[in-house]
Amino acid sequence: MRIDVIPCLQDNYAYLIVCEQTGESAVVDPSEAAPVFRAVEKSGTRLRAIWCTHHHGDHVGGVEELTSRFDVEVMGHVSDRGRIPGQTRGVEDGSEVSVGSLTARVLHVPGHTTGAIAYVLDDAVFTGDTLFLGGAGRLFEGTASQMEVSLGRLAALSPQTRVYCGHEYTEANLRFSAHVERSNVDVAKAIEQARRQVPTVPGTIEQELRTNPFLRLDALEIRQALGIAPGADRATALAAVRGAKNAFR
Ligand SMILES: [Zn+2]
Repeated sequence: MRIDVIPCLQDNYAYLIVCEQTGESAVVDPSEAAPVFRAVEKSGTRLRAIWCTHHHGDHVGGVEELTSRFDVEVMGHVSDRGRIPGQTRGVEDGSEVSVGSLTARVLHVPGHTTGAIAYVLDDAVFTGDTLFLGGAGRLFEGTASQMEVSLGRLAALSPQTRVYCGHEYTEANLRFSAHVERSNVDVAKAIEQARRQVPTVPGTIEQELRTNPFLRLDALEIRQALGIAPGADRATALAAVRGAKNAFR
C-alpha cells in the first residue's frame, strides 16, 4: 500500500490510496478534480473508488467530474445519500470497503456532521474533518457529546496509527494547544516541526494523545485554563475547548 498526499484548494488534502499489488487506487475526499487527475496519472494506477468522509463541498467538489471520467464507486455514510453527489454506496459503522487487495473498515464518527465517517486501513486512518492534527472539526450538525465519543474511538486506535486528516490546520491548532497548556513540551516541539515541514500529515494517534486538547480533556492545566470544573464530564469539557478554540485568534 502507498498513500499519496494531494493538496487541494487552499488547505484541503485529498489522498490517493494505491494498491501496489493490483495497480488499483481509491481517492479520499477529492475537493477538486484536476489535482486528483494529475495524481492518478502520475501513479499509473486505475482509479476505482472515491471514499468520502462527509458531504461538505470542499471534500466532494471533484466527485462528479471524476465519476464522469472513471468507472468508480462513490462511498459515503448511508445518511449522506442525496448530499454526496453521485454516491453509489451507503456505508455504516463497521462496513468494509475495498480497493484492489486493500480493505478498510468504516467508523461512524458523528459530530462535525451527522454522517461523518473515518476509514481505517491497516495502520492508517482517514479522519476528514473529525480529527485534525492538534485539533478537531467544528460541531456543525452534531453535539459535543457525540464528538467526544467519536474522537474517543479514534484515540483508541493503535498509537502507531498514522492520521491523514482533511486540512492543513496543524500550526494554528497547535498555537491554541500551547495557549491552553503552556507547560506541554510536546506541543512546543510539534509547533517547531509544523513550521519546518508542510504537509504535516500524516501524524500519529500517539502524537495526538500528547498534543491535541480535544483528546486531552482530562488534563488539569487545560481545565484550569478554561475554567472547566475538575468534576465536569468530558463532553462538557469538549464543549468548553470547542468554544475557546472558536474564539481564539
Ligand atoms: Zn467539513
